[in-house]
Amino acid sequence: MIDEFIEIAKKALQDLLKETEENLKNTISEKTENFSFELPDTTYGLPLIYALEGIKINNLIELKRFFERIKESFTQSTDAITLSLNYLYLSEIALSLNYINTESIDKSSEFKFYGFLGDTIQRTLGVQLVDGRIPAVAVLLGRLDSDKLLSIIKELQEKRILTFLIGAVAEEFLKSGQRHGFEAYIVPVGTKTEHTVFVIDWAVRASLIFGGQTAGDKDAIIEYVRKRINAFAISFGSLNEKAVAMALGAAVLAIPVITDQSLPDVSIPEIAEYPLLTAEKDYSKIVRKAIETRGLKIVVEKPSIPVSYGPAFEGERVRKEDTFIEFGGQKTPAFEWVRMMDVAEVEDEKVEIIGTDWRNRYEQGGRMPLGIIVKVAGKKMQKDFEPVIERQIHTFINEAEGLWHIGQRDINWIRISKKAKQAGISLEHLGLIIMSMTKARFKSIVDRVEVLLYVDEKDILTLREEARQEYRRRDLRLARLTDEEVDKFYSCLLCQSFAPKHVCVITPERPGLCGAFTWLDAKAAYEIEPTGGNQPVEKGELIDPIYGRYSGVDEYVKKHSGGQIQTINLYSIMENPMTSCGCFECIVAVTPEANGVLIVNRGYSGMTPIGMKFSTIAGMIGGGVQTPGFMGVGVNYITSRKFLKGDGGIRRIVWMPKELKERIKESFQKVAEQEGVPELFQKIADETVCEDIECLIDYLSKVGHPALEMEPIIK
Ligand code: SF4
Ligand code: ZN
Repeated sequence: MIDEFIEIAKKALQDLLKETEENLKNTISEKTENFSFELPDTTYGLPLIYALEGIKINNLIELKRFFERIKESFTQSTDAITLSLNYLYLSEIALSLNYINTESIDKSSEFKFYGFLGDTIQRTLGVQLVDGRIPAVAVLLGRLDSDKLLSIIKELQEKRILTFLIGAVAEEFLKSGQRHGFEAYIVPVGTKTEHTVFVIDWAVRASLIFGGQTAGDKDAIIEYVRKRINAFAISFGSLNEKAVAMALGAAVLAIPVITDQSLPDVSIPEIAEYPLLTAEKDYSKIVRKAIETRGLKIVVEKPSIPVSYGPAFEGERVRKEDTFIEFGGQKTPAFEWVRMMDVAEVEDEKVEIIGTDWRNRYEQGGRMPLGIIVKVAGKKMQKDFEPVIERQIHTFINEAEGLWHIGQRDINWIRISKKAKQAGISLEHLGLIIMSMTKARFKSIVDRVEVLLYVDEKDILTLREEARQEYRRRDLRLARLTDEEVDKFYSCLLCQSFAPKHVCVITPERPGLCGAFTWLDAKAAYEIEPTGGNQPVEKGELIDPIYGRYSGVDEYVKKHSGGQIQTINLYSIMENPMTSCGCFECIVAVTPEANGVLIVNRGYSGMTPIGMKFSTIAGMIGGGVQTPGFMGVGVNYITSRKFLKGDGGIRRIVWMPKELKERIKESFQKVAEQEGVPELFQKIADETVCEDIECLIDYLSKVGHPALEMEPIIK
């Protein structure tokens, strides 16, 4: 079987060589050899070729040179692995030529496909991939009728599997008009079989972005992908030559293909202990078969409600015209409040709606006031975990299809769509979702959960006052929570599944760099799962209060980075800074000419005054390595009083994109006042002021930015 496949792949490679050669020739004669190009939003050239071969292709000469290499190796007899990889490389080249020629991915279709998958989205999804919110990545390719396809996609979405669609299925799905995109966990990539290479690209690039692998270290990278990237493909319809060649390429990376055709299993024991090609003709079993083949264990927690549930439905909006009923949103009084109680005060699994004539009022739709009180009790529950659970109400409600939630506390806003109502969603279901998901996700700290929904305005106003007092108490406590005051820090090792040497040390004044973990979150996560990714870190002795160096932290980091990192300063970017993985929200970068630092956030695609974009700087750091002068941080660390304390603090900030400035404005102002630089915010430049260094320096001198007067940042 395998020999037969290799013969077919050879044929496919030969055809693609011919096609591409022609295309390349035309492109060169039109644009000249020196024409430079870039795939959108990546710093890795043609990422697959760059990762595996260490060659960064940025213009047509380089492209041609590499093309010749593939062509030449084809004329010699090569082994199956080289042949398979060459097919993938050639597909990447063919698709790049498409980009150059049409600047869009597929002109032949009326639909807009996602095409090349950029670095930004990959970094954004990093945390979800490591914490299991996305347990696997699937590729669906070929042709299948709409009903079967949609039900398979629903199943994948409910299992939280990020799914890429290639070929006729991509078009079919877009035709259905259903929600798509990364938030929906379903991404139509393109219509050609070659487009599969964009997904393979993504898998391989993870080794560079998160894994700290060196481009060109082919064996290590292949090993990384085989071991760490949980991917599989499902192919519908007969496998054409291209699909066979693609499947062989995927096999090199241990990505199994499940086919709906009658074909015998193909196994290659040197690569994987499971079959790399296997058949399942029953569409209701095909997803399960794929999951089992890849050896994944996926636990789905779903409340019993009449609509679909899972993170794939989280980002979906319910617009005004689709709304059946809404609560809060400053239109009716509302609040949500998690309260820790004694066990005796909580009736487990009870959902009660308190108010007059509520059934009728709900049935009429429109608006209703709503007070949500979640009473929780548990032996390991702590008062500090109330806000951690409370914040999850947002996710719990949003994960239901057709339900929408924004805000929190007394500014929450909930909508139920007409469709969800038609499907049978009632007011009780809202309580049921919160009750069952709180129990499921917090099972080790919460033994009992009771949810009370108040719907009479009078009750809500009284209870909201009580809740507000509690919110104020919490805020005060949080503001007092400093690194000195607590007796332990927490680590986060979640990203080690991709960046094996990286350790995040999370303190009250320095949240995790991905923005997903505050100290309280990490502490709660540890209680919830004592053997999980968040572990207590004993502080030990405070060696340096300005730089934030603790003996206990050093010991911990040394041990858990496998001895790679000897010491870190929690509050410095210049001397032994914390390492970065790949999913940082922002990058802080030293700007020596301005004697300060600039900060750039992940969503900002413009140029920075140091002459590099976010994606370029991001490509230079990460992988659990210390890079003095550059550091990934979470947004909230910028407004911490410990921000770069060792290097001079917030006075060092000279530039930030406008959107980031706006986002942190209020809390930044508070810290700036405490630090005695109330006018600092106005003195920080953004892209509307300058995008290059000369202009930045002019501006800083003009406004009298304090960084210019400080001692040199580079000693
Ligand atoms: Fe990764 Fe650090 Fe975020 Fe944990 S806190 S998920 S290790 S970036
Ligand atoms: Zn990370």
